[in-house]
Order: sequence, then structure tokens, then C-alpha cells
Amino acid sequence: MGRKLSLSFALYFGLLLGLCFSASAQDAKSVLQSASKAMGDVKSIQYSGSGHVGALGQAFTPGGAWPINDIKSYTRTIDYGSKSAKEEMTLVEPTPIRNGGGGPFAGEQKQVNLVSGQSAWNQPGNAAQPAVAAAEERQLQIWLTPHGFLKAAMENNATAKKGKGGTVVSFSEGKFKLDGTIDSQGMVTRTETWLPNPVLGDMPVETDYSGYKDFNGVKFPTTIVQKQGGSPVLNLTVTDVRANPDLALTVPDNVKAARIPPVNVTNQKLADGVWFLAGGTHNSVLVEFPNYAVMVESPLNDARAAGVLAEARKLIPEKPIKYLINTHDHFDHAGGVRYFVAEGATLITQEMNKGFYEQAWKAPRTLDPDHLAQSPKKATFVTFKDKYVLSDGGRELDIYRLPGDIHNVVMSMVYLPKEKILIEADDFTPPPPNAPSAGPRSHAGTVLLYQDLQQMKLDVATIAPLHGFVVPFSELQKAASTEVSSASK
Ligand SMILES: [Zn+2]
Repeated sequence: MGRKLSLSFALYFGLLLGLCFSASAQDAKSVLQSASKAMGDVKSIQYSGSGHVGALGQAFTPGGAWPINDIKSYTRTIDYGSKSAKEEMTLVEPTPIRNGGGGPFAGEQKQVNLVSGQSAWNQPGNAAQPAVAAAEERQLQIWLTPHGFLKAAMENNATAKKGKGGTVVSFSEGKFKLDGTIDSQGMVTRTETWLPNPVLGDMPVETDYSGYKDFNGVKFPTTIVQKQGGSPVLNLTVTDVRANPDLALTVPDNVKAARIPPVNVTNQKLADGVWFLAGGTHNSVLVEFPNYAVMVESPLNDARAAGVLAEARKLIPEKPIKYLINTHDHFDHAGGVRYFVAEGATLITQEMNKGFYEQAWKAPRTLDPDHLAQSPKKATFVTFKDKYVLSDGGRELDIYRLPGDIHNVVMSMVYLPKEKILIEADDFTPPPPNAPSAGPRSHAGTVLLYQDLQQMKLDVATIAPLHGFVVPFSELQKAASTEVSSASK
């Protein structure tokens, strides 16, 4: 017994000692140096191919995989020294559609996404569009590439330890923590970090690199798969790699001057006690009951939610927001839900969303702590399967699950029978008055919404959409019956 005990003690201390040694920065340095030699050091790199993208936060089923679109062509050029990158891709809708749901577009779409230092912009045509909110992630993505990871690790006092599949090298870049696995051949096979997300909190970003090949003296993976929030956002087959191409980006003046615009919330009275809250990309609707108020939708993030709530308090100062109604779990429509939970509102949503939110909201939120993380409160839910009615003091509000919706399996809409107002998300986005098109929204979804309304025999006079502009019902009728070209079906 005694000998056995001392043996396990010896093993234990030996193991501890081993861990201490292998976690040293000295080890990391030599691992990084030999990896850099094995992969071939470059100042800049360009890789091209094709594959798929997944639309983060747009799952057809709550908690499901992101909908997939195909990348017809893809080229990314990175200049490590100037911290610049240019990503060019042409996306096409896949046939058949995989994972269903809210693909961001129909037809073909060209994207050119750029970053240089702290500036990010998009330039698919001639004009540069600032992309201030994307700068942080695009900069981070440079350091998640195999060569970028090695360079950043060397500059940031990385540590190393043995892990699954090789040596795991870790370091911090600003507020972000990065881990990377280097295999016995000196190839970077995986990088991992976390990005803040309004729904998922500290969201894992895992990139796997495999099928390394020699491209004129530089080793590069032929398969790149990046998952965000556990589901692929990029799956790339690399067919061509160039070492040390030129990438001299000049940040356009309008990009340099760009800031995230302040939250703008406007109100439009639709009926007594009913206000349409717009002014940004996503709308909400405020409904007054005798003893409380109800908000329909809290989109985007805490900042939008705070603006929407402040507007509600201006319009109905004396009543609490008792309920928040959420139409579906897509992140652009659900990113502000937690804010209302922190403010004490009860969330009304279709029953399938509850489990997803409860699971997602368990994640830590250290990168960007939101209002609910700072003042924790247990969320209270009211769920329904197909229909829920709020009725009080002469006011009635009906929530319906939309049967057969193709955008989200449990998409819900809100109907005010007395006022004949329909509040809907994503199936019909009315353009501003006198504009020719509502943009790349699904025409099939608009047709289905119209057919559902006919079947349900809802008497709708006004559409209050959660994107776009308030219009009479006839506009939906017109849009649903208009033949469209195959590019926008
Ligand atoms: Zn959606």
C-alpha cells in the first residue's frame, strides 16, 4: 500500500513537473520557429478556391445548422505586415437548398470585404461602404490563418502545452484569446478563438485546416472549415495559393471618417395605443393595454433594445413593458431580447424557441457583457404552439404561428383584429414609397404569407412589417401576385 502510494505521488509530481515544463514560453518559441520553417515564411499570401458559406444566426430550426449558400469563386489576399486583407467571393444560392431558412439573398451576389488596421469596408462595386462593426472580426480573422497564427503567436508571448493532435499554442491578442494546434509535421491544423455575439455570448470560432500541400515552397491547407457557434460558416476547397503577392490597400476617406451610427428610433402612430417604432434596419411595434404595455420584437442588440425601450417610455411613461413578443429566433430579430428580460419583461415566443434561448443564454459573456449579464435575472417565458391571445380591457392581440413558413419553422406573426393590423417579419418587406423593389427578399415567402392569411380568413387592412415601411394590405396582395424573374424567386 505504502509503496503504491509513494509511486502514485511520484507519478503525480512527475506529471506536474512535466506540465510546467511543456507550458513554458521557451517551448512555444521553438515550436513556432520550426512550424514557420516547415510551412514556409511569407510576408503576404493569396489563396483561391470555392465552397460554401453558412449564414450565422439564420437557422431554419431553432438551434439548427446555419443555412448554406455556395461560393462559386473565392480569393483572399492577406498582407500580414500592414494588417490588411481583401476577401472576394461570388455567392450563389444552392440547388437544392440545404438547411432551409433565411439565406441572406437569392440569385448571385458578389462580395468584396476589406480590412486595413482598424478600418473595414465593403467594395463590391466602385463605392466603398464602411463596415465599422466588422473591423474587429476581420482583423482577428487574419491571425486565425495558419501563417497569421504563427506570426501573432511569436509577437504575443505565446505558451505551449501538449494537446490533442499536437502542441497547443495559446496567446492573447487584445481582448481575444487564441489557441492553435501544431501537428508533428509543423503544420497549423486548427485555430480557436471566441467572438462576442448578442445571442450566443462568447461564441466559439473554430477553424480546421487539413490536406496540406506544397504550393511552390509554401505549405497551405487545401481544406478550410470554420465553425462559428458550432456550425460551419465557411467550408473552402483551396485550389491555388500564391506566396508574397502585393496588397497595398488605401483606406478610403469615407471609411476613415465612418463611425457606428447612433441608434435612431422613430415612432409612427398606427392606431390608438399602437406605435410603429422604426428608424433603423429593423422595426418594433408598441401596443398599449389598460395596465401595461407590450413590445413586439427587440431586434439586433442591447443598443437597439435600449433605444426602443426609451422611446416606449416616452410614449407610455406610466406603464411597464410587461411582455416582449419575439417572432423568431434569427439573431437579427432576437439580439435585443435579453435586454427586455433584464428589464423584467416576460418573453412570449413559440415553444420551440424557449429551449434554444435557455441553452444559448447559459454561455459566458466575458468579451462583451450585456445588460442581462451585468444584472442577472432568470428569464420568464410564456410559450405557445400555434396561437396565443392577449386580451385585456377591450384590447386584443393575437399571435399566430405561420403554418408552412419557409423562412423559419416556427415563424410567428401578430394580428390586432380590431385595428386590422398585421405585424410580420421577413416574409414581406415593403419598399419605401415609390421605390421599385424591396431588395433581395424571398418572393416565395411573400406568396405563402398571402396564402396563409387567406386561409386563416384574417381581415388585414395594414401591414406593419418588421423590416421596411407600413403599407396597406393591397401592397402585399400586389407583391404576392407579381411574377418575378428567376433571380429573385
Ligand atoms: Zn429571419
